[in-house]
Amino acid sequence: MITETLEKLKSLQDILAQKYLIESELKELPRSLTTKSELVNRLKKSFIEKHERLTAAKSYINDLRIKMRDAETERENYEGKIAEISTQREYEALVKEIRDAGEREQNYRKELQREEKAFEELEKAIEREELLIKDQEKELTLEQEKIHQETQDRESLLTELDNQEQAITPDIDGEIVFKFKRIIRSKEGKGIVPLQKGVCTGCNMILPLQFVNDVRSGEQIHFCPYCSMILFYQEAGSEDALENLDLEDTADLFDESEFDDDFADDMDDFDDSIGDDEEDLDDLDEEEEDDDDDEDDDQDDSSDEEEVLDDDLDDDLDDGEDDLLDEEIEE
Ligand SMILES: [Zn+2]
Repeated sequence: MITETLEKLKSLQDILAQKYLIESELKELPRSLTTKSELVNRLKKSFIEKHERLTAAKSYINDLRIKMRDAETERENYEGKIAEISTQREYEALVKEIRDAGEREQNYRKELQREEKAFEELEKAIEREELLIKDQEKELTLEQEKIHQETQDRESLLTELDNQEQAITPDIDGEIVFKFKRIIRSKEGKGIVPLQKGVCTGCNMILPLQFVNDVRSGEQIHFCPYCSMILFYQEAGSEDALENLDLEDTADLFDESEFDDDFADDMDDFDDSIGDDEEDLDDLDEEEEDDDDDEDDDQDDSSDEEEVLDDDLDDDLDDGEDDLLDEEIEE
């Protein structure tokens, strides 16, 4: 029974939509983790670099201290020799040595001060970074635990949905299930939609009347030719819409007040449209015969209405032709 299959497809749609949503969430989940672990890795790399710089700075400072002390010792030695000096020339040479050594000493001292200050700042930055890394690692661990938990929750939900899917699918044609799954994946969780007033509610395209009738007869599964979704016929006003559409227009056409010189043209148009209508109504009649025993009373009523309206149309048409003949005779 097709209605049963359609009901099963509706349930399957809900299950598959949830399943696909969860599957995409499962793919997304580790992404926030990737960003965070990348940040931690960057921090660690920068931490290592700073540490290397700190080690280098330490040995440079030691080097500067030695050089400064050497210059200091040199200067002190020269100063000690001043008492032993006998000539003016020797004295002048010694003073120059003292001055040079003193200058070197001062330069080393200045550079040492700069380097020690930079070293301190680097040390502080490293301390801050170390704390930051610890914080980020703690957050990362928490995030990992959270994601692990969320993944597990979703996976068990998926298993449950798989079981629900397995309970439904064996009763439906495998090829239909295959197509249906593909549609739901590509149409964001939608795969079966109502056909209302001759329009596919999935893509809002107007469907050919014969196709609408086929869907309505419910003899087999129909896919929308435009959006590929499975269609089920939904009564809500769809028949009324079709009848009112054409019959109201034609009724207006036969309002006597509208009989004017253009009438002959209108008549031609009308004959064409009546031809179509008769075909359509014939389709409905045929379909009525094909319908199953469990067809409801509503449909019988509406078919009766169609016949009545059909007769009215024929009457109107006759009147119209009579009037037209009268007009022609008068002329
Ligand atoms: Zn469609």
